Amino acid sequence: MSVIVFAENSEGLFKKSSLEAVFYAHELGKLVQQKCIAISIGQVNEEQLKLLATYGADQVFTFDQAETSTFNSELYSELLANTAQNCNAKQVVFANTYSGKLIAPRVAGILNAAMASNVISLPTLENGFVVKRTVFSGKAIANVELKSDIKVISIAPNTFTITAVNKGAEIEKMQSTVSLEIAKTKSLELSKQAGKIALTEAELVVSAGRGMKGPEHWGMVEQLADLLGAATACSKPVSDMHWRPHSEHVGQTGITIKPNLYIAIGISGAIQHLAGVSSSKVIVAINKDPEAPFFKAADYGIVGDAFEVLPQLIEAAKSIQA
Ligand SMILES: Cc1cc2nc3c(=O)[nH]c(=O)nc-3n(C[C@H](O)[C@H](O)[C@H](O)COP(=O)(O)OP(=O)(O)OC[C@H]3O[C@@H](n4cnc5c(N)ncnc54)[C@H](O)[C@@H]3O)c2cc1C
Repeated sequence: MSVIVFAENSEGLFKKSSLEAVFYAHELGKLVQQKCIAISIGQVNEEQLKLLATYGADQVFTFDQAETSTFNSELYSELLANTAQNCNAKQVVFANTYSGKLIAPRVAGILNAAMASNVISLPTLENGFVVKRTVFSGKAIANVELKSDIKVISIAPNTFTITAVNKGAEIEKMQSTVSLEIAKTKSLELSKQAGKIALTEAELVVSAGRGMKGPEHWGMVEQLADLLGAATACSKPVSDMHWRPHSEHVGQTGITIKPNLYIAIGISGAIQHLAGVSSSKVIVAINKDPEAPFFKAADYGIVGDAFEVLPQLIEAAKSIQA
């Protein structure tokens, strides 16, 4: 029996969320006394694959064939489910990322497994296999019992601190058990925004709202983000008005994020906005209205005009960098 974990890569590099999933699977393996097998799909070099062992995999399986070179949720789900069956896996772990959200439910379906997403704890085993997961956009925590023989878990990114366990796992090149014919969809083209930090992966986020008055003022927001090594985000009206792309819209109807630091500039702090950001570890709100609701959710607040506060923050960031 084993715990298997999908280690997703982005252009050959494992994401932080993947290493968190591997470390979680390692800890879970210790708990249920089963080995942890990390599965990598696509072209990844040996040095990167070794990272999976460093963060807790007992074995690393790598699938690097032509048919698996491009992400396809149907193909990847089938391959992972087949591998889980071949390894007699009782737990299958994912990071609750864009890809994880697409694949994990499919794998659970194929394996007839119970599934919990957005998991924030290792299971307790005293009264069944019970995990904690966040619900209602992070406003509540549910204890969920997974009652099937095989369990699928997708963990909330940025929740578990990873520690190197320095294992020397064997890396095994595997032969894909699926063919492209099973896929009902095909990606024709992928255009990525070059040089941008992915919002869902970012540890620091600088976000701005309607208080910035217009898209022509976003240079300051981007400059601060660049200096801090942060991703940029925005409120819904800002993306609705096409001041910023929809991919930056956070909140109830946008992306849910959980960075270590969320800086909100000229955003009122409406409940729908907070739904996507309130799990951030530290929140800083900058607003000229001392009654702005964001101050109630923030750890630090600056009451001031963004057009005066932002240049000062940029100068401070520059001097720290220097
Ligand atoms: C079903 C539904 C779903 C929604 N989903 C989302 C969602 O996912 N995400 C989201 O963001 N919203 C969402 N909304 C919209 C949400 O209710 C708010 O309307 C929105 O978040 C407000 O955006 P804002 O704070 O940028 O703008 P505003 O509400 O206009 O607030 C602007 C803020 O900037 C401050 N300000 C103005 N000038 C300055 C200045 N010079 N310096 C500093 N501060 C300044 C003001 O004091 C104010 O607090 C949703 C609404 C509904 C009904």
